[in-house]
Amino acid sequence: MSPTLTDSSRFSLLVLGAGISGISAAASFLRATSQLLPRPTVAVLEASHRIGGRLKTSTPEELPCPPGPFDLGGAWVTGFSNNALVHMVKEVGAKFKGASDRSTNDAQGSELPDGVDESTETAAEEISDAFAYPSFQPIPQADFARASDRAAKLLMRVRAEFGAPGRSLAQAVELLDEKLQEEAGLRDRDSGDGEVLGIDWLTLARMKAATEPNDGLPFEEVSSLEFEEIGNSPTGSEYATVEGGLASVVKRYAALESVPVQFGAHVEEVMYGAVDGCSVRTKDGTVWTADHVICTFPHTVLLSRLVTFHPPLPTAFTSALSVLGRGTLSKLILLFPHRFWTPGAGGIDLVLETTHTRPPRDFPASFLVAEALGLTEPYPDDHVGERLHALVGFCWGDVARAVERDPEEAARRSVEALRKCYGEDKVPTPTHVLSTSWISSPLSLGSYAAAPVSTLSETLLPNLRAILPSTGTVGTLRFAGEWTAGPEDGIGYAHGGAREGKRVGEEVARYFAAPEANNT
Ligand SMILES: Cc1cc2nc3c(=O)[nH]c(=O)nc-3n(C[C@H](O)[C@H](O)[C@H](O)COP(=O)(O)OP(=O)(O)OC[C@H]3O[C@@H](n4cnc5c(N)ncnc54)[C@H](O)[C@@H]3O)c2cc1C
Repeated sequence: MSPTLTDSSRFSLLVLGAGISGISAAASFLRATSQLLPRPTVAVLEASHRIGGRLKTSTPEELPCPPGPFDLGGAWVTGFSNNALVHMVKEVGAKFKGASDRSTNDAQGSELPDGVDESTETAAEEISDAFAYPSFQPIPQADFARASDRAAKLLMRVRAEFGAPGRSLAQAVELLDEKLQEEAGLRDRDSGDGEVLGIDWLTLARMKAATEPNDGLPFEEVSSLEFEEIGNSPTGSEYATVEGGLASVVKRYAALESVPVQFGAHVEEVMYGAVDGCSVRTKDGTVWTADHVICTFPHTVLLSRLVTFHPPLPTAFTSALSVLGRGTLSKLILLFPHRFWTPGAGGIDLVLETTHTRPPRDFPASFLVAEALGLTEPYPDDHVGERLHALVGFCWGDVARAVERDPEEAARRSVEALRKCYGEDKVPTPTHVLSTSWISSPLSLGSYAAAPVSTLSETLLPNLRAILPSTGTVGTLRFAGEWTAGPEDGIGYAHGGAREGKRVGEEVARYFAAPEANNT
């Protein structure tokens, strides 16, 4: 136990969880109260033995270096303007590795992060080219590009014409399909051409590939209003990775702000609402007391009831939690002794669907080339054989669950499919296989929240951002996480968590600065 934590028997604030939201909350609280005497105290309770939560960078034991380190959870900083994560990156002096769309960014007049220099710009161009033209084997590149283009246009129509609260993306696409068939039917009747055109299977596959990985959910569970296309977040279409990985940014930020973290503190019970404050019991029986608590556990952990709250959390809050999408993104990383894909390609899409229904699958159909997308260090083109080359399978839903259950089998099936595309003798056996376990880990139980299909955000957010009890001054419980950020503020994203942590940390600090002003 660290000296800071044992010295104090009662804290002004307990923050539960040392992910980006928790560290941001504790750091903002400490900053905002730094001039007060006596100095308010804070402790962060974290079940695991590391800082970062769903930001986790591989260790050399997990993945040999090179090509590591590699981000196993959140990897990209998405959107640069007014981004709390960009602020953290700058504060700790970390460097961005690649950033796309410099010209768009300039045109919008938004701020570029420090460290976006000429070499980053070149990397950025390569990254966006790679994203735009994935290498694809069984279908001619031109057909693939045409379908991708049409998919992007149709997704815009889906949102504008059929996006509605309570309607999933799958349902909205079906309505658009019917409309297109009707329009084509009318045209054909006039022209005498018998062909009826709706959404063909390849375009549908591209529509899914452009949206599903963002939410980590199948089409049926994605909102027809709030879905995002890949590389197109609410804060902009720019993205960058960070040297050393995103988890190192949070870790360095915690050190910079002297945030005290108690590792191995697995929270089981939270008591709130008493006039003399809150208390928190951890698995080892320790009871921690504080004036205020900020809980930053993933919403899926709260829904699982692995943590008990006294009094029970209000129905308005739990109902709001239960409608949030429960993303299930997982990564399957395969290291190969040499590259078999086209140089410069950003990914490999195995378009296996041949009808509107998806065949059951237990391995990813979409692989990103880690180097090309700034996920690992770039390699010179003639470097074949001297280092390992990484493909990252992105999977969600049932595929992700299957991959987490049996990564070796998923890797075997992936290689089998890749060999069908590239040829038996072209695809070597992977030297390393690593899978994440975000869905099965009791500390995450999924990847991240997604905007709900069923409820409008205006009614949802105030319930999620509740201060419990609503009349309380001391003894309050608040929540902050990527899931309390609205669709506009980065729900699901690391920057959403950073922003929410800051907002709620400063909110609690205001109580200490002027407690009488907060008496209700
Ligand atoms: C595969 C994947 C890819 C992603 N890609 C991106 C990306 O490219 N860009 C992006 O911006 N975001 C991405 N994200 C999302 C991003 O990682 C999250 O939004 C963000 O890290 C969430 O931070 P948080 O602090 O809110 O939650 P967490 O990071 O989950 O922090 C919560 C903390 O609480 C701890 N905890 C849980 N239960 C208990 C308990 N009972 N007792 C004590 N401690 C507990 C956990 O160990 C954890 O440290 C990705 C996520 C995943 C999984």
